[in-house]
Amino acid sequence: MKIYTGDKVIVIKGKYKGEVSKVIKVFRKNNSVLLQGINIVKKHVKIPTLEDTPKKEPKIIKIEKPIDVSKVMLICPNCTKPTRVGFKLIQDQGKLKKIRICKKCNQEIKKQEK
Ligand SMILES: [Zn+2]
Repeated sequence: MKIYTGDKVIVIKGKYKGEVSKVIKVFRKNNSVLLQGINIVKKHVKIPTLEDTPKKEPKIIKIEKPIDVSKVMLICPNCTKPTRVGFKLIQDQGKLKKIRICKKCNQEIKKQEK
């Protein structure tokens, strides 16, 4: 998986094509990502109400559903372009470390702080 939580991405396929969003959560098992404000579905929930409340209306809440990671492309924080991600091994304080590289500007794409 090349996408991490906190990454800025653009949707490249489907209903939300062209939308820019932020990754809220990554599901490695099924290769999907949860994006802020993307793929929102309405869900009816019944809120327990007090017995003497006259109306018992089901409440509609909106939740985001994960979309397949193949439908998004990472936006490089360095060159601000949608890009493919490569990996590179570097020496970091005597240890080998795998970093992500933007294929457009060849700079490291750092993991965003949550
Ligand atoms: Zn770049």
